[in-house]
Amino acid sequence: MTTATAALVARLLREDLRGQTAYGAPQLDVPVRLNTNENSYAVPVAVIAAITEAVADCARDLNRYPDREFSALRADLASWLTEQTGVPVVAEQMWAGNGSNEVLHHLVTAFAGPGRAVLGFTPAYSMHPIISRTAGSTWIDGHRGAPTGVFDLAAADVVAQVREHRPNLVFLCSPNNPTGTALDLDVVEAVLGAAADTVVVVDEAYAEFARPGTPSAISLLAAYPTLVVTRTMSKAFALAGGRLGYLAAAPEVVDALRLVRMPYHLSTPTQAIARAALAHRASLLAEVEAIKIQRDRMVERLGVLGFDPVPSDANFVLFGGLADEAASWQALLDQGVLVRDVGIAHHLRVTAGTPEETTAFLSALEALPAPHRMHPVPTPQGASA
Ligand SMILES: *Cc1c(COP(=O)(O)O)cnc(C)c1O
Repeated sequence: MTTATAALVARLLREDLRGQTAYGAPQLDVPVRLNTNENSYAVPVAVIAAITEAVADCARDLNRYPDREFSALRADLASWLTEQTGVPVVAEQMWAGNGSNEVLHHLVTAFAGPGRAVLGFTPAYSMHPIISRTAGSTWIDGHRGAPTGVFDLAAADVVAQVREHRPNLVFLCSPNNPTGTALDLDVVEAVLGAAADTVVVVDEAYAEFARPGTPSAISLLAAYPTLVVTRTMSKAFALAGGRLGYLAAAPEVVDALRLVRMPYHLSTPTQAIARAALAHRASLLAEVEAIKIQRDRMVERLGVLGFDPVPSDANFVLFGGLADEAASWQALLDQGVLVRDVGIAHHLRVTAGTPEETTAFLSALEALPAPHRMHPVPTPQGASA
């Protein structure tokens, strides 16, 4: 493209989008890819067969539009969510999109949009501000300032910011990406109690990986009509390529989303693939426990190696203790290990991989020369060397 065309396009573009950067996690072909929190395990053979059959079965009818209401899929999602949380959820409370990013876009478009405000608490999911700005909303970068740690979110602090900004929609993320830790439900309830005219979205993309005893905001749905909980099949279900995200909310909230979605937004194959995956959830979700073991191994070992891991309820770990995170990111990549620089000084984020991938990451990190570290290399004690 010529400079003249670039200048022309810049003039044609919406003023509020000029100078914005697009989402851009690197997609590099390296041996160990631990940068976008995908499930590290391939789809099992039995599930591949079921998905292939489901797609073949619907191919003949592709001359027709898909079921616009994706009713069968919504019923399947409701029964899965009921099973996972122990909270009864019905199909009328369910909504889905091409990834939970699209579901979040529906929410922001319907309840915020131009001239309205969205509040989130950085560092959190990088798509929350991008989706909000895309929809024309004003993004308010809330802060985390809890007394117990830099990444914690205290109820009083969140409530004060909600009262100050009176946003139309607030994003909470639990377990939080990129920090990894789940929120106490009292924080969610405090926000709901303080802001009756605000839609409260709890992004639970990693809920299936939470440590035992971590409650889901799904349990609050019956009490709060302004609460929306979003989930995805991209992580625990090993279905990032299938693009299926969903939410649970009051049926009236779901009804409002019909105003902003494009008709037939979920293709017939997408619905068929998601239903086949849900029907085979036992084998797809079997690897979640294995991934949690590697996650816990990473947290433990990172501490032993003299870095500062953040406790994780997700399939990734944020760790500090790096002198220069960009230099360490490159040095790990030079050893074939791709992790994520999430823009937090002295920190990197790494996805829990297979046992072999996790070993490759830990070895590559251990091999970094001393100047990469903020803390001295710990002297090995007993078995850990
Ligand atoms: C990965 C992720 C998503 C999922 O996005 P999809 O569009 O469903 O693939 C949503 N929220 C958070 C916090 C995530 O990390």
